[in-house]
Amino acid sequence: MSRFWNERLQQLTPYVPGEQPQMTNLVKLNTNEHPFGPGEAVTQAIREAADERLRLYPDPDATQLRQAIADWFGLEVSQVFPANGSDEVLAFIFQGLFRSGEPVLFPDISYSFYPVYCGLYGLESRTVALDEQLRIPVEAFQPPNGGVIFPNPNAPTGRFLDLESVERILVANPDRVVVIDEAYVDFGGESAARLIPDHPNLLVTQTLSKSRSLAGLRVGYALGQQHLIEGLERIKNSFNSYTLDRLAQAGAIAAFRDEAGFRAGQQAVIEQRERLNAGLEALGFEVVPSRANFVFCRHPAVSGAELAAQLRERHIIVRHFDKPRIEQYLRITIGTGDEMTALLTALDDILNSGE
Ligand code: PMP
Repeated sequence: MSRFWNERLQQLTPYVPGEQPQMTNLVKLNTNEHPFGPGEAVTQAIREAADERLRLYPDPDATQLRQAIADWFGLEVSQVFPANGSDEVLAFIFQGLFRSGEPVLFPDISYSFYPVYCGLYGLESRTVALDEQLRIPVEAFQPPNGGVIFPNPNAPTGRFLDLESVERILVANPDRVVVIDEAYVDFGGESAARLIPDHPNLLVTQTLSKSRSLAGLRVGYALGQQHLIEGLERIKNSFNSYTLDRLAQAGAIAAFRDEAGFRAGQQAVIEQRERLNAGLEALGFEVVPSRANFVFCRHPAVSGAELAAQLRERHIIVRHFDKPRIEQYLRITIGTGDEMTALLTALDDILNSGE
């Protein structure tokens, strides 16, 4: 803390330390990365881009990447906005498209960066309580508000909200931007991108960090009607005119061309998720139905904090949130088959060793 920090900066707390430990002998199931690396075509494209052209600035508009994303979704290039991870896309949305004076609405159990962005950019916020089953209460997202945002599937619950309900929220808030954060949509959800032509207030954000195994490349994007995308461009061009570096653009383009690799990775994660669900239920866990690459679960007998600590002693890292309503839960990222076996074996040992 310094006396030169302004009041918004003073209120910020650092991201939980220890979530990205650099040790190698860990089973790391805490930050929802993909368990398998990107396909050979993707790493090859990045290697090929790493040549003497690195002395040149990259294409500031990431034109080829926009085209690849637009083709994937059947949208126009003018409806795509790429940036450094969906976190940067979200930062631009909070800066430029949400209104101050009325609270930005998001669920009480949701992505922890939304309140941080509100604090940083001087926006008011109001949380909407999830129901008993941790579902999003559609009718609660009403004007007046400065904008609406929620992940779909939600994080950390993994629950998916059907597109009919998403559309009801869009219709109820015609004068405000509604952002559907689809970081986890490729693991069994359905994208709201197809609603874009009918809804001028809809912005969808997605990332290459999860289903495309490229968290290390930092690429995300927004999809929406041109007038919203132009707003995001204006923010970016006012200070950060180079969207993505050369290597990130090359790798991301290759990722959108590698449909077979993408589908195989997606299926592998879904299979392990179903296996983990069954294994956890057999151990007495209550598991929230997940369409993401993680599951959210609690055990009636042992606290979430205790389970997370005991797993850590066995070199397995999962996520526990020290927050009201969800302190009993663990969020577990889907890993490889071997990692899931190691996790279930460790949990069995922790829960049943006293018998
Ligand atoms: N939205 C949600 C709901 C997330 O969980 C994450 C990843 N932690 C992000 C956005 C940001 O992802 P990235 O910046 O890697 O694209």
